[in-house]
Amino acid sequence: MLELYNRVAQAIKDKDFESLKELKPKKPEFFNWVTDIFEPQNVKQNPNDKALIWKYNAQREDFTYKEISERSNQFLNLMRKHGITHGDKIFVQLPLVPSNWYGYLACIKGGVVIIPAATSLETRDLEFRFKSVLPQVTLSDAANADKIDEAEKNNGQKIKLKILTEGTREGWISIDDIFSESKVAEGAKTRSDDDLFYFFTSGTTGMPKIVVHTHFGYPIGHLTTTTWVGLQKGDLHYNISQPGWAKFSWSSFFAPWNVGATILGYHIDRFVPKEQLQTIQDFKVTTFCSPPTSLRMLIQEDLASYNFSLRECVAAGEPLNPEIIEVWKKATGILIRDGYGQTEATALVGNLPGNKVKFGSMGKPTFLYDILIADDDGNEVETSEEGNICLRHHPEIVTGVFKTYLIDTKRNDLVFKHGLYYTGDKAYKDEEGYFWFVGRDDDVIKASDFRVGPFEVESVLLEHPKVLETAVVASPHEMRSNAVKAFVVLAGGAKASAELAKELFVYSEEHLSRYKIPRIIEFTKELPKTISGKIRRVELRAEEAMSKHKKEKR
Ligand code: ATP
Ligand code: MG
Repeated sequence: MLELYNRVAQAIKDKDFESLKELKPKKPEFFNWVTDIFEPQNVKQNPNDKALIWKYNAQREDFTYKEISERSNQFLNLMRKHGITHGDKIFVQLPLVPSNWYGYLACIKGGVVIIPAATSLETRDLEFRFKSVLPQVTLSDAANADKIDEAEKNNGQKIKLKILTEGTREGWISIDDIFSESKVAEGAKTRSDDDLFYFFTSGTTGMPKIVVHTHFGYPIGHLTTTTWVGLQKGDLHYNISQPGWAKFSWSSFFAPWNVGATILGYHIDRFVPKEQLQTIQDFKVTTFCSPPTSLRMLIQEDLASYNFSLRECVAAGEPLNPEIIEVWKKATGILIRDGYGQTEATALVGNLPGNKVKFGSMGKPTFLYDILIADDDGNEVETSEEGNICLRHHPEIVTGVFKTYLIDTKRNDLVFKHGLYYTGDKAYKDEEGYFWFVGRDDDVIKASDFRVGPFEVESVLLEHPKVLETAVVASPHEMRSNAVKAFVVLAGGAKASAELAKELFVYSEEHLSRYKIPRIIEFTKELPKTISGKIRRVELRAEEAMSKHKKEKR
């Protein structure tokens, strides 16, 4: 398998991604990413290379590959001493501290299934989660330990081992206990199809779903993420993501360590654009990955006044509006390349380094995936026709697509059908094979006989200098069934007024087909978002439907 990794690393250096399409990784019976890839490639070959640089205010902690590997072995030995074995589950609710990284390494090596959780989750969320899956181990800091204890008590459950990353607490052992453990540990004999992660999706469209990823498919799948970012050994990679979300595993864990790069773990209490940019400059970050939400904040700053060492910039998680790419490119000379994926998979479609980028397009399928635009019956649609983003399943080829939803297994039948995996997103493909995002299934607006994708309308509005953020949704309308409505958050200094609404309307008229123009514009202070910062159009849509319903009742 190391050969495959070497091939991918070389392809990234040569910017030759076409040749990777020939690769068809076969699934071995047993596979463990830590003992099969991470240790031989990074720890044995490059023990003194930096694996992780962690920063929090004035604190800094660096780990070489050897050091982080030893720390992870100690962690694994500690878990084992307390009776934790292959197949057990760990619930990790931590801010961005180093134990996320060595904890994950230990769990993968020991075959312990990882359940990442965002720190913003409250006791009732944990109760819900523990009822779905009760972990044998938890790993958390003091603030989250409170919630874990309470949820455990309220549910009348018992968690076997609780590990605390700071201070002391009754019923918990301290992570410092690892220091008396051996720095050497045997790996578990994990099967390729053994469960590796239980991720919760972001909950943008409803209650989060639990996604099961396995030992072979998931890490191998992230080779696509590595190619999309364009990571190379020697890079310092910074990804804006909190642990708790799949994006952390994508871009703060597998993608950089797949090629022995260094991760910058920049822990913050609050997102301050100036501090972000200063850190990227001072640490000489070479590869940068960010959700569009954060980029929208960063481009408000005087980007040209920084002296960056960046080579690659990518964005994922939400549609990337052309406006962001343009502003960033003008100031830094670097193109932000969009990449599309989901918790359910890895990087599926992306603009790869060196490839021609069409502003506003997500790019082309990455090397492991056979992606098509299909109708609801599984038929591929014509070029330029909108349809469902789907993945064709080839049993002999391993990809990073998930194994199953947990608990809500009925949902599997909704997404795995006609020999395809339905992502739940809409797009179209152009003559050159580029994919253009239209919107999530439910976000597409049906107005009169037309279908309007919110992304295109939002992208136009965002180009207007007075618009900071916007969400475009369907608003029930007697004549048209739905009207296109834009919620708009104004950029600093701009004042909401009927004139400004008119100005935005005229601006839209100049840049959009008639049926796509937002007929209603509502100024708002903020947009409803998930805790990971994604716009929840579903909430705005529900409010619209509700207010229409109330009006009708009156
Ligand atoms: P939930 O499934 O719980 O409603 P979610 O879909 O937001 O939440 P994630 O798995 O974190 O959970 O996000 C994946 C989704 O994010 C994709 O299905 C797509 O809708 C959107 N997305 C991700 N990357 C992009 C991108 N580059 N362009 C457009 N949309 C994107
Ligand atoms: Mg989803």
